[in-house]
Amino acid sequence: MMLGAPGAGKGTISTMLSEKYNIPHISTGDIFREEAKTNKELQEIMNSGKLVPDDVVNEIVKKRLQKEDCQNGYILDGFPRTIAQAEFLDNNNISFDSVVDLEVTEEEVIRRLGSRRVCTKCKAVYNITTHNPKQENVCDNCNETLIQREDDKPESIKHRLKVYLEKTAPLIEYYTKKGILKEVDANPSIQEVFELTLKVLE
Ligand code: AMP
Repeated sequence: MMLGAPGAGKGTISTMLSEKYNIPHISTGDIFREEAKTNKELQEIMNSGKLVPDDVVNEIVKKRLQKEDCQNGYILDGFPRTIAQAEFLDNNNISFDSVVDLEVTEEEVIRRLGSRRVCTKCKAVYNITTHNPKQENVCDNCNETLIQREDDKPESIKHRLKVYLEKTAPLIEYYTKKGILKEVDANPSIQEVFELTLKVLE
């Protein structure tokens, strides 16, 4: 399970781990962004940086984890995000071996999210200061025009950080107590953070 503030690199590192270990990368954010294309209420919740209600998220994740491709393991990115979601997993005997906590400073989060650009088609993530596509504003994989996520705009970033500190950060203690939390300094480059993650996992 990948834990960390918005912009810590959960999605990027999860994608790299998913390729290395050949297990699915399950991002609740990606699931909801797809759903929000046709669901106005969900779109509003997400754009403002609020959380989707626990019972909605819990059922979606439970169903997803029952699929065949999760038999040999999975990487959870963005879930659980509240103590209630973590307790739901425990109560349903859904477990994981490790929780990787990507630790990043608030300044770095604000810098990264403000310059993040994403491909809505293949979900690739770029950064206009550190990881540019070959052609400006165009996805390297599928030639789609890149966009800035609505919730990566300054007002939403502030709210997401507040929500993270209030609702998600308590999970650090929750999983430390269970003895499965692994801390990784997520301030360096993507490659370095990936290597540090592999080190704590292996
Ligand atoms: P992310 O891509 O992980 O930053 O998620 C984007 C948005 O999706 C969040 O700001 C929430 O609105 C929603 N979301 C994703 N995962 C969860 C979750 N586990 N619980 C509640 N809301 C979530």
